[in-house]
Amino acid sequence: MNELIDSFGRRINYLRISVTDRCNLRCIYCMPPEGIPLIPHSEILSYEEISRVVQVAAKLGINKIRLTGGEPLVRAELPNLVEMLSQIEGIDEVSLTTNGTLLKKYAFELKQAGLKRINISLDTLKADRFHYITRLGKLKDVLEGIEAARDAGFNSIKINTVVMRGINDDEVLNFANMTYKEEWHIRFIELMPFANVADFVPSDEIRQHIMSLGLLEPCLPITGNGPAKYYRLPGAGGTIGFISPISEPFCSSCNRMRLTSYGQLCPCLLSDDGVDLKGPLRNNASMQEIKQLILNAVASKPAHHRLAEGIVPMKRNMSQIGG
Ligand code: SAM
Repeated sequence: MNELIDSFGRRINYLRISVTDRCNLRCIYCMPPEGIPLIPHSEILSYEEISRVVQVAAKLGINKIRLTGGEPLVRAELPNLVEMLSQIEGIDEVSLTTNGTLLKKYAFELKQAGLKRINISLDTLKADRFHYITRLGKLKDVLEGIEAARDAGFNSIKINTVVMRGINDDEVLNFANMTYKEEWHIRFIELMPFANVADFVPSDEIRQHIMSLGLLEPCLPITGNGPAKYYRLPGAGGTIGFISPISEPFCSSCNRMRLTSYGQLCPCLLSDDGVDLKGPLRNNASMQEIKQLILNAVASKPAHHRLAEGIVPMKRNMSQIGG
């Protein structure tokens, strides 16, 4: 079996691909109200180019792909890409991170195309607050999208909730209670300091607060082996996870690389480093050359991010690298 091991002994088997920098929302912690300067379409990797990268990466040991953005579902014909990547030898799983607003339209097609799992970002259960946080969106669309995903046969739906002090931290118990009503797997994510909107809330504080509803029993993840630590309230069908990049960094077990929509292969979400693949792809680089570039990017993966030292990436924002 092929294995991709970085300089710190971590096995890299997971590639997150941002398929577009465009988004139909403007979440206050992710993008400025006017959006960000858009990358011309001609500079965005085509589906064929993405597939070529994945073919080489799969030979090196990548077996899991997650499509993200911007908002991946605003890119035309995303199910076609899902189908192309799902058929690549060595790829066991193609999944999606989405804001959910367009899922009602695409959930069934995505399932047919071979998509395995969906993570949906949802930071509030209140309609007016949803509009405030996303600046453009309607809560109803996301809730209908979640329903549509269920109906299409996606069983273990994960909900990503970024917790912001003074903005939505008063809803933590409402979200936790949703795990009784629905089989949602909610993951509370610590806010990373990309935009100066609010303070993050440490996972431990959220955990303690949820304990007022009942004992949180640690449990295994329903699917996947990502950075979240999972718990379950007594008798709940869903689970509650915590992703704590700030208070409990998980860099030592990081298994991922990121490909931006404009073809930079990035070793870390929270660093500005990246290796350009688009130029070589468009200059007919051989599989061997692409392989070497992937190996170079993996070799440059830092031991850990440097948020604690106040070092945040400056060149890319979250909507460009894909979260
Ligand atoms: N549009 C898709 C979505 O909303 O899920 C995919 C892209 S979005 C950049 C991916 C994830 O990054 C979302 O779950 C979002 O909440 C998260 N994210 C964006 N900015 C963040 C920040 N400053 N701190 C923590 N998570 C953030």
